[in-house]
Amino acid sequence: MKVTRIEAHHVTLPLVAPYKLSRRYGTVTHAQAVITRVMTDDGLVGIGEANPMPPFTEETWGGVFAALEHHLGPLLLGSDPRDILGVNQRFDAALAGNLLAKGSLDVALWDLLGKSLGAPVHRLLGGALRDRIPLLWPLGSGTPAEDAERIQEKMGEGYRTFMIKMGAQPIEKEVARCEAISGTFGEEIRYNVDANQGWDLAQAIAFMDGTAGIPIDFVEQPLPRSASWAMAPLRARATHPISADEGAQTLQDAAKLASSHAVDIFSLKISKNGGITRARQVATVANAFGIRCLMNSMIECGVSQAAALHLGAATPNLLDSGQCFMSTRRLSEDVTNFGDLITAAVARVPDTPGLGIDLVEESLRHHTSESLVVS
Ligand SMILES: [Mg+2]
Repeated sequence: MKVTRIEAHHVTLPLVAPYKLSRRYGTVTHAQAVITRVMTDDGLVGIGEANPMPPFTEETWGGVFAALEHHLGPLLLGSDPRDILGVNQRFDAALAGNLLAKGSLDVALWDLLGKSLGAPVHRLLGGALRDRIPLLWPLGSGTPAEDAERIQEKMGEGYRTFMIKMGAQPIEKEVARCEAISGTFGEEIRYNVDANQGWDLAQAIAFMDGTAGIPIDFVEQPLPRSASWAMAPLRARATHPISADEGAQTLQDAAKLASSHAVDIFSLKISKNGGITRARQVATVANAFGIRCLMNSMIECGVSQAAALHLGAATPNLLDSGQCFMSTRRLSEDVTNFGDLITAAVARVPDTPGLGIDLVEESLRHHTSESLVVS
């Protein structure tokens, strides 16, 4: 089997509602993605996705296009797509970094491998340890009244895990939000908070001290990625477990954080980590250090979500809580049928070949602003 053609489509999708994140990211109104298709000489097609979101990601959609057009696409053409590790090695030999671009092809190769063998991706990863995974719902920065209204509404849809976005308000206001949520909902729900690099060490410590005794599952990325040196000192006196997201992109990031005992949890994201192959390597490093994994998401379409669902199903050290398979529910429209796998805030792990989802051609056409072909 040989790769004969690679396509990339840049799509922009409006969110159902604006999403207010930390000071660093501001308010997000649209998601952007690069959807890839890898075609072979025997007629099989694999699909992939990259989720550039500057300044969260170093890569932009234009950068992903350039990497695909000039470096990775020409390398992949003519290769056997089932040679996934070999292809990734050749990518790394030709181009440093660019994990989003590499990941968009890696996911398509896993989809192709599954389709060629008639097996779901989770089986290729060793088999699903769970066939259903509950979802969490993320709340943007807001007031205690807004938080309560949103949580109540989403509890009605079946959600029991929430991620509260912080880092845009003074620490005392963020502490007050936690007091209000725990005071109102008690053990009916569980939640974590995500500061998205929004605090410095003193602020992170102030938050930890202010919320000591409040049951928060974990605090994600309290410090900037550039301050990863301060994660271990913070954890040494933290009152809640700590998760790394922006700071845990590469395998080397994961090794440094794990070996310096700086975190309890890694947030895995298929695109950020560079595809299924690399995200799985990060999960394995985590497992060796007793670190648990959250299957997290960018604001992404159903291809990245499906890839995360297969990996999450086959990850032994998956965090015991809701996971981020809600991303397509925040989009006005997805370009895939991933949403069919979700019922009442639970995702069903598909058993059909490959990723087990398809692109919706009409939606892809409608939302595509630019396309690229390597053949
Ligand atoms: Mg995060």
